[in-house]
Amino acid sequence: MITISQLLRREIQSVKGVGEKRLKQLNKMGIHVLEDMLYYFPRNYEDRTKIKKISECIDGERICVKAMPISKVTSKRIRRGLNIYKVLLRDDTGTMTATWFNQKYTMSGLEIGQIYIFYGKVSIKYGKIEIGNPIFEKMGKQPKYMQKIVPNYPLSSTLTQKFIQTIVKNCLDIVGDSVKEYLPSWIRKKYNLSGINCAIRNIHFPNDFEAFQNARKRLVFEELFLLQMGLFKLRNEGQQLEGLKYKDVSDIEQFIIQLPFQLTKAQNKVFEEIKKDLQSGNAMHRLVQGDVGSGKTVIAVLAMYMSVKNGYQAALMVPTEILAKQHYKSFIELFKNDEEIKICLLTGSTSKKNKEIRLTDINQGKVDIVIGTHALIQEGIAFDNLGLVVTDEQHRFGVNQRTTLSQKGDNPHILVMTATPIPRTLALILYGDLDISIIDELPPGRKEVKTYSVEDDMRVRIYAFLKKQIDEGRQVYIVCPLIEESEVLDVKSAVEFLESLQNTVLRECSIALLHGKMKQTKKEEIMKQYINGDIDVLVSTTVIEVGVNIPNASVMVIESAERFGLSQLHQLRGRVGRGEYQSYCILFNNSKSKIAIERMKIMQQTNDGFKISEKDLELRGPGEFFGTRQHGIPDLKIANLFRDMELLKLAQQAANELIEQDATLHEEEHGMLKEKLRKKMQFANM
Ligand code: ADP
Ligand code: MG
Repeated sequence: MITISQLLRREIQSVKGVGEKRLKQLNKMGIHVLEDMLYYFPRNYEDRTKIKKISECIDGERICVKAMPISKVTSKRIRRGLNIYKVLLRDDTGTMTATWFNQKYTMSGLEIGQIYIFYGKVSIKYGKIEIGNPIFEKMGKQPKYMQKIVPNYPLSSTLTQKFIQTIVKNCLDIVGDSVKEYLPSWIRKKYNLSGINCAIRNIHFPNDFEAFQNARKRLVFEELFLLQMGLFKLRNEGQQLEGLKYKDVSDIEQFIIQLPFQLTKAQNKVFEEIKKDLQSGNAMHRLVQGDVGSGKTVIAVLAMYMSVKNGYQAALMVPTEILAKQHYKSFIELFKNDEEIKICLLTGSTSKKNKEIRLTDINQGKVDIVIGTHALIQEGIAFDNLGLVVTDEQHRFGVNQRTTLSQKGDNPHILVMTATPIPRTLALILYGDLDISIIDELPPGRKEVKTYSVEDDMRVRIYAFLKKQIDEGRQVYIVCPLIEESEVLDVKSAVEFLESLQNTVLRECSIALLHGKMKQTKKEEIMKQYINGDIDVLVSTTVIEVGVNIPNASVMVIESAERFGLSQLHQLRGRVGRGEYQSYCILFNNSKSKIAIERMKIMQQTNDGFKISEKDLELRGPGEFFGTRQHGIPDLKIANLFRDMELLKLAQQAANELIEQDATLHEEEHGMLKEKLRKKMQFANM
């Protein structure tokens, strides 16, 4: 006997209709076994359930009409390779013309005087009604493609909708109603979820929209619920509640007073929350969200000061070398009155010899604060007594990396800082059980960065404007056109771009190039020159995206801005407006696409990072937004973390209830779920 799980794992070529050529294309789409096909969900649907009269047709809509051909097919050759075929149709309210391009075989079977249902897009010009490239079916037969809601699948090859529809149907026929349910029945009941077989059938071929909605609800819930459970398991490994209990540090007030600025109210509030955590006896797990420039660094500094004064080491992990270096410098500056505190830097480019010395120092507790990149989580690094782990710009790191660093200590306090504010429910997914603090205020005196979206025809004027700013003593960033997926090409385009500037007014200025492929020492040298003001225009790839702080820079120019997501644009823009000068962000946008224009508009309208990231999520969807791969979050097939927020909450709630009841899933009714979860996490490599 074949068990159902074997059935689902059956190879897709065993399904009727899948030949060798198409098999390859299905494989390319990630479809190898029956289950893959059943979980290959439609992108959208065509509603062919309602039939309209010809006289009711509206320009631009896709509809079904029931009509009769009343003329022979006429054909007209427009040019070589382009023929138009037309047929006149009639119902009892009027006539319309059906038009096909180049598809002679399509309408060859049409018979005058017979009644068909046509489905296609209507256009009305000068009172003449047309239906473009309609598909049709004769009335009277059992309808196959009409009077139904028809799924449209995402297609990336030459496969047709009809083909996928047929294969899905065949798969459904094979599986029948025998997919085993693995959501516990109490959860299905409580959250009103349909059964798995019903859901799978109706997500592909719903009878009506209610059936579709129910199917989707079940499948979205299932996906988010599994994700929640998976994250829970991941987090639960090695997590103890008890943590280092820090004593209050009496001279912290003193330390705060001697800072070069007064903390904002928001900074004070957040630091109080952190202090409480550190002294509670439980390990701190806290996320600090604050817009670009809101002053997160100093918060980290204060927490680390507490840690060191309690006799523990602290580590700060940042995503780029430049940023690590910059933090290192500002830490040295901030701690200059306290010679006891020893700080060291550890990055990928630290020389072998230096590295060995520093590793020994770290290991023997001769160093109090370690600042570094991913290098911090490599093997071979052992701390003496790591008490606090801070990760900055967390959205660049994955869940796993954070965990790895904290495992270098004995359940140390954890502080995570991010400039990408995200809705709370999503934060729960990404950051698990972190408590959240928000710095919702910028330091005083900041001027809004004025943002303009321009096209290429403004280039001369923009360069003149840059020149003027430089003449006034300011500095400028230009972020080069981004070429996707190839750093080598990025560099090439950056070099060409730099050369092109020699034909502009900017040739009189000092211009330098910075890109990711450069040697570390070279990068540092250029950054140093820029910081010193020896360079007027810094042309770079996106390496400057996060964190860099140069108050004299007043203009950020972003080439091919349409290629960037909103949050990234906002991060880049955050590099200016850090000093006393009015600052500007110029976005060169070459795209006329609706989304690009919408993005530019948002950038011009607001400087509020929170609003921007919400919009970003909405426009791009969370996959791209978070860069799922980096986060170890599996790709979602059907759920949309933004639009399905309500279901996400319910799924989180259900996961919590289940964990409370049976955390190890040893009860019999949770056995199927346990199995499913195990498989899922294996695939997602969680
Ligand atoms: P981000 O939150 O983007 O990491 P930073 O910590 O880099 O921001 O701070 C941005 C700039 O603001 C730095 O130059 C920092 O010295 C300054 N800054 C931070 N807090 C204050 C404050 N309370 N008052 C004035 N300037 C501040
Ligand atoms: Mg920062």
